[in-house]
Amino acid sequence: MMGPAHALSGAAAWVAVGAVAAVLDEPMPWPVLLAGALITAGAALAPDLDHKAATISRAFGPVSRWTCEVIDQVSTAVYRSTRGKGDARRSGGHRTLTHTWPWAVMCGAVAAAVAVYGGRWGVLAVLFVHMVLAIEGLLWRHARVSSDVLVWLLGVTSAWMLADILDDPGNGSHWLFDRPGQQYLWIGLPIVLGALVHCVGDALTVSGCPILWPIPIGRKRWYPVGPPKGMRFRAGSRVEVKVLTPIFMGLSAIGALVALRVVG
Ligand SMILES: [Zn+2]
Repeated sequence: MMGPAHALSGAAAWVAVGAVAAVLDEPMPWPVLLAGALITAGAALAPDLDHKAATISRAFGPVSRWTCEVIDQVSTAVYRSTRGKGDARRSGGHRTLTHTWPWAVMCGAVAAAVAVYGGRWGVLAVLFVHMVLAIEGLLWRHARVSSDVLVWLLGVTSAWMLADILDDPGNGSHWLFDRPGQQYLWIGLPIVLGALVHCVGDALTVSGCPILWPIPIGRKRWYPVGPPKGMRFRAGSRVEVKVLTPIFMGLSAIGALVALRVVG
């Protein structure tokens, strides 16, 4: 999938969580729904940080290019050392380590720890990174024609505003985890969800996604999970742009109404 479909499917997934939470009587305050949807949208782009040509490896200038390089090397090393007898030999690390559930869980845990222990600056850092990714994903080529600095400014501003709103009592810093010291623990959830939604999206495209690693399937540890061949579509195809993207938008809108208890 391309950036916008990844980002929108991420946002839709978080809104769906919001709808379920409302039904289960743990309704999200609206700032949690909004911030979570944007974080998930951004996190749904992050797994492609293992791929130099991906939009997001350019999102933070030299920092993300360097991160991308490191992740590529680490992914390649992990692939080689855990390769099963049935897994192919390969040179690059794209669509390996960062496209698995353990990676998703790790990213969520790290971000939650930064937000919980890092205080306001920690929360701002997590928000900033994901707002920039969300902007890159949702605006896509439109974000590319403007300058990087403009995107970063927009990221800083939106992160700052969201953190202020979330900090107001009852607005969400303690959503779901309400004991002392657990403020912003929930922020790990949209990050895990975003990474998993990315993997599902990739699984639907031609080559599948090794999301289950390191659980062995047959002779493979990096089994490319995906639907039968006939049900897959090409990344950036008409199905994705003309059918899936509007569906994700529609689902997000309906889910938001349920989550905020406007209907249902
Ligand atoms: Zn991917």
